[in-house]
Amino acid sequence: MLDMTPVKVAERKALRINPCKTCQPVGAMYCALGVRSCMPHSHGSQGCCSYHRTVLSRHFKEPAIASSSSFTEGASVFGGRSNVSTAVKNVFDIYAPDIIAIHTTCLSETIGDDVKSYIMDMEIPEGKQVVHCNTPSYVGSHINGFSNMMMGFMDYLIDPADGSAAGKTALFPGWVNPGDVREIKRIAGLMGAECICFPDHSGVLDAPMTGKYELYPDGGTTLPEIRALGGCSQLIALGEITSAPPAQLLTKKWHVPEVLLPTPVGVAFTDRYILALRQCTKREVPRALEEQRGQLVDLMLDAHAYTSGKTAAIFGDPDIVIGMTSLCLEMGLVPKYVITGTPREEFGVKVNALFDAYHVTGCRAKANADLFELHQWIKNEPVDLLIGSTYGKQIAKAEDIPFVRVGFPVLDRYGGTLLPVVGYVGGIRMAEKITDALMDRRDRDAADEDLEIVM
Ligand code: SF4
Repeated sequence: MLDMTPVKVAERKALRINPCKTCQPVGAMYCALGVRSCMPHSHGSQGCCSYHRTVLSRHFKEPAIASSSSFTEGASVFGGRSNVSTAVKNVFDIYAPDIIAIHTTCLSETIGDDVKSYIMDMEIPEGKQVVHCNTPSYVGSHINGFSNMMMGFMDYLIDPADGSAAGKTALFPGWVNPGDVREIKRIAGLMGAECICFPDHSGVLDAPMTGKYELYPDGGTTLPEIRALGGCSQLIALGEITSAPPAQLLTKKWHVPEVLLPTPVGVAFTDRYILALRQCTKREVPRALEEQRGQLVDLMLDAHAYTSGKTAAIFGDPDIVIGMTSLCLEMGLVPKYVITGTPREEFGVKVNALFDAYHVTGCRAKANADLFELHQWIKNEPVDLLIGSTYGKQIAKAEDIPFVRVGFPVLDRYGGTLLPVVGYVGGIRMAEKITDALMDRRDRDAADEDLEIVM
């Protein structure tokens, strides 16, 4: 007979099995792709660069451009100064970007390359820019790399004398898909806010098929916009984990007052974003937004019979996971296990605060966790639904759990990056996906005579 005694799940400090994150340079590369006419540059070996480009290309189903310092044995021993200087010259000569955004890798960090001093000694063509950030991948995750690259752009480019953004709102969308950036900007536009969105992946990694390949599509935050960020009248930073460090930098160094908010997933978090915009613009919330909010609430009520009390395991990047936890709680689900691979302790604090607010008990939240651990928890006490990136599909298959794909990366489905998770519209989309997954399972397991058929 099968022994169903729960196994003790060991706490591991030094080992990650099936990690729930990827490495810092992936985030730095993604951030840089949200700047117009920018070539991300990986200061390390070609293998790292190829991997980072591959994971981004497979998620977005778009080419993710980047160049590499192409370290071999010589650079690994004697340093990569000559490699990166040659690379920058070649990239400007051949690919003609306006800016090159260099990020480091494990190798260049380990040998201690001082990229900042290398840049100071480079001959940079007139009107062009080179910026950098440090992204050692043995600490943090791609989320830290994304924040670090944002701060690299800001440190190098913001011009304190540039007053062209006075009255505008700096808008940090955090790590979200281009479809989310479009929705975040659409809501800001409906609220009458004039924003500089940084970074802005809309129009870059969701560019339409025109029959002509553009190395630098028309989207992305422009260099003049980044230069002007320090003169913005206020900052709305979305994604309390990802956007906190760059938001604090903009506030501390350039005195732009910040409002740091969760990624606007679900009703409550979208409300908070809209209220923050209303504070900036003093405008009333337009009917279009009220209507969409009402539709989302209506959908949640309609589906309640199928979602209430169902348990879910949610994993992935911290800000999307916090948002999805809030949405699930609003739908009456119990988010039994909530994990991220990014090692930020605030994650647990924020998720536990949500558990308390909705009076759910017996739920666990953990940062710096991995999918092996999540799988062990599920084996001991199963859940009704799994929500997260493609990397959860083996768990879903092994434990026969309905699976909703969301977050990064989603490698095995198409179109998800074009559509929002955020805002009321994104909430409707995710509420539909969650309800459909639960109802599909119900239909699969129901006896023929119990199948609900609506005529
Ligand atoms: S060596 Fe480091 S930077 Fe390169 S792919 Fe591996 S973890 Fe990422």
